[in-house]
Amino acid sequence: MLSEKMTEALNQQINKEFYSAYLYLEMANYYADESLDGFQNWFNVQAKEEMAHAMLFVNYLLDHSCHVNLEAIAKPGQTYNDYKAPLEASLKHEKEITASINNLYELSVQDNDYRTRQILDWFIREQYEEEVNAQNLIDRYEIFGEDKHALWEMNQDLLARTFVEPTIA
Ligand code: MG
Repeated sequence: MLSEKMTEALNQQINKEFYSAYLYLEMANYYADESLDGFQNWFNVQAKEEMAHAMLFVNYLLDHSCHVNLEAIAKPGQTYNDYKAPLEASLKHEKEITASINNLYELSVQDNDYRTRQILDWFIREQYEEEVNAQNLIDRYEIFGEDKHALWEMNQDLLARTFVEPTIA
């Protein structure tokens, strides 16, 4: 059985994952406006992943007969002045999500909640990947972003990303 505190914390995490999806959709739309369809695609896939993360937590709560409390999703409302800005904002955001997952992990340790800890192990690894991916995009943009032809190549590369439904093994 999950503690009340853990149930509340997981509900808050669900909201953060949906907010992440919203934030990445906004970034995707920014790149769409700039005719960078590869960057748009990359962030649309990112948004889908975040929705899937939210659903993993939703289903986890439902499996334990815990109430899923869907709160309002905050408005991202960001404006971006150049192509690099969303990339930097996404790394910053992922670091915040990592901190949030770490807090959940800490709570699972306090609660002796071994099962939730096992689920969170997956999210700890996922956040490692998310931060590496976000940093990687910044690094590539710094090398190729200023050159129009190289930027186009990078855009084409990002166009190839496809969504794979995440499963907790
Ligand atoms: Mg996530």
